[in-house]
Amino acid sequence: MADNEDKTVDRREFLKGAAAAAFVSESGATGSAGGAQDHDHQIVPSDPTLRVKALESLLVDKGLVDRAALDVIVDTFETKVGPRNGARVVARAWVDPAYKARLLQNATAAIAEIGFASYQGEDMVVLENGPKVHNMVVCTLCSCYPWSMLGLPPVWYKSAPYRSRAVIDPRGVLREFGLELADDVEIRVWDSTAEIRYIVLPERPAGSERMTEEALAALVTRDSMIGTAKVDLTPAGERP
Ligand code: FE
Repeated sequence: MADNEDKTVDRREFLKGAAAAAFVSESGATGSAGGAQDHDHQIVPSDPTLRVKALESLLVDKGLVDRAALDVIVDTFETKVGPRNGARVVARAWVDPAYKARLLQNATAAIAEIGFASYQGEDMVVLENGPKVHNMVVCTLCSCYPWSMLGLPPVWYKSAPYRSRAVIDPRGVLREFGLELADDVEIRVWDSTAEIRYIVLPERPAGSERMTEEALAALVTRDSMIGTAKVDLTPAGERP
């Protein structure tokens, strides 16, 4: 046991050193979009973060990837793409029945109507939640996720417990998210793949009948589009 712990520490120290070296060699050169947030010296980054940084610096050093191109991609997903994109699609579907019909029939095309394109050539599928059917999304294999609509996936979505338990005990998982569904509500679990990414169209909350499309979009949370939450009248940004 003690040996294993020592090895873990050694590997972390090694990766930490590699990442630190990468920062030193990159600072003052082309810069890094992710640099500012990583300069918190109080917290040692997680193993995967350190591995990514070590790999990235090696690939850049060998000329296999272009740092400027990487920065554009990171900036896109950090600042331009996020759950607000998906929320706009949901709100449009709530106020425009014809749009909703197109969205449910061909989500990729309907989402493109609003100006959002997929980044990886994947097909989008929208699943409508209702009083008797609740859809939720998982990727049991890894972490396939509708990035262009929801931004970067949350840590729990990529975790082994969610990926396995969402299929085995979806009702129990939803309960842990604070969502208690009645026994007569059918739960459908959808497994994302590299080719197909699912987004849930949550139920429009009661009491929102007079709200504008923009105000409705502000209610839609990321988790409600994964299917682990419902939408209520609390704006997404004001939830705990
Ligand atoms: Fe995956």
